[in-house]
Amino acid sequence: MHLYVLIYAIMSKAYLMSGTEYEWMKKIVRRYIFVLLGVAASGLFYTAVSLSQSSIEEMIVVVPHPVLRQQAVPILADDEETVQLLQEMAEYLEDSVLPKGGISLPQVAVAKRGFVAMIDDEAVIMMNPSLVFTGEEVPSLEGCLSIPRTFGYVNRSAAVTIEYHDEDWIRKTLHLEDLEAFIVQHENDHLNGILIIDKLLAEAPERVRDINMPLE
Ligand SMILES: [Zn+2]
Repeated sequence: MHLYVLIYAIMSKAYLMSGTEYEWMKKIVRRYIFVLLGVAASGLFYTAVSLSQSSIEEMIVVVPHPVLRQQAVPILADDEETVQLLQEMAEYLEDSVLPKGGISLPQVAVAKRGFVAMIDDEAVIMMNPSLVFTGEEVPSLEGCLSIPRTFGYVNRSAAVTIEYHDEDWIRKTLHLEDLEAFIVQHENDHLNGILIIDKLLAEAPERVRDINMPLE
């Protein structure tokens, strides 16, 4: 009996609300719902971005970590876990505030033959790569995510042909020049335990790369 009285009271209160009051209330609710949804959505988005950023960022190992000196082993066709990791690394590169050219699996302490390289502004996953050097040797100014605060010139082939498995396990071939050729050579060196500090040129040549040089 009390329940009926209560429902009746609420209903009559709603009926008593004038048309303009009702419209005004609807407008307010609608406005704040969109504000709240917007805040919630952007919060989720930034949390997702910062999680993918920080998890890879925190995984990066620096010298003298022994994994950086290991000979990495080939990735097997059914290694879904490694493909997943490479996809996270690709997101990390693409979302990076500072320009980054590439990142290899040994740099996140996984001694397997795979890396991600920025090609045409896109992070491309390359597994089990093989390189053929097709250009003349030129100096390249490089930095490395695993060697903080060190930049220097190393000799690189000005062009390469690279074969690799993509994330769908399709064998692909790319011909790359200049910066993109340097990036895949730098990352491929990581798979063989070779770092830029092993091959820094004694004298800085005149050829200088862009000031916004990406890290690799
Ligand atoms: Zn590096």
